[in-house]
Amino acid sequence: MTTIEIIPICVPTPFAVGDVIVYLVKGDALTLIDAGPKTKEAASALEHQLAAQGVAISDIEQVVLTHHHADHAGLLDLFSDLTELIGHAYNEPYISRDKAFFEWQGTYFQQLFSELGAPLEHKQAERLLRSAYKFSCTRSLTKTVGEGMEIDGLKGWTVLEMPGHAESHIVLFHEQEGRMIGGDLLLQNSSSNPIIEAPKTGSKRTAPLLDYQQSLKRLYDLNPAIMYPGHGDAVKNVQTLITKRLDKQRKRTEDVWRMLSERPHTAFQICQRLFPEFYQKELFLTMSETVGQLDVLAHNKRITTEWDGATQYFKAV
Ligand SMILES: [Zn+2]
Repeated sequence: MTTIEIIPICVPTPFAVGDVIVYLVKGDALTLIDAGPKTKEAASALEHQLAAQGVAISDIEQVVLTHHHADHAGLLDLFSDLTELIGHAYNEPYISRDKAFFEWQGTYFQQLFSELGAPLEHKQAERLLRSAYKFSCTRSLTKTVGEGMEIDGLKGWTVLEMPGHAESHIVLFHEQEGRMIGGDLLLQNSSSNPIIEAPKTGSKRTAPLLDYQQSLKRLYDLNPAIMYPGHGDAVKNVQTLITKRLDKQRKRTEDVWRMLSERPHTAFQICQRLFPEFYQKELFLTMSETVGQLDVLAHNKRITTEWDGATQYFKAV
């Protein structure tokens, strides 16, 4: 059996994370994993590097999304209706920019942030959410995939759902070869953030850090020999890196617990203490991390909550 070639293509992004890496996979179907953000620079980098492989955009038969973030999905707009667009169903409202979903997200986050003690106007919430998709696409998936499925044309590769960084996050795993195409699940050069999302069904908020830690533990057991990530260097020390990431998170959990044993705090007050330099500029990311830590403490029954009017306070048990 011959091993399918996975060719990294480095695409620039306008985001702090730097370049995104998309992969050309020469399987039975010519496949691209992720696409890049929707900018001229990214489109030209993608086209040039594909051309160096003798491939034109129109030759790509399918694009598989690891998750819905703009730095991965934006350039879906480059592809014609003939290209299969494949990913988890949760990509859909973001990549299609579903108007009703975006409006509902604005309302949802304004309400949630106000309960968590963070001042966020409705307009500001919508603006923040929309700006995250400024470099995204307006496309729909042509095929959805989920846990345990195989994608046509990529024989031997199985889809695994690995939520946390995004609820839509999947990876492709070739168990026999010990290879994984990992998106942003585990990055060598930076920590991947858990990010809160508005619920897709029902009204229960996601618990991104708990999900993410669960995904990392699963990845630890799978222990691929190599991971092809969405950013930075290939990961060849999966278990060591996971241990390092989980240790760092555990230290932060203890910091939060210590703050809460001094006195009750709102999530926003904890956020300000954890990220004094960043919370204003990166409200969503820093609040996501904070809420994630509170979820972990609540899950382990180390904190309780109480309400003062419409504001929620957390305190150590
Ligand atoms: Zn991402």
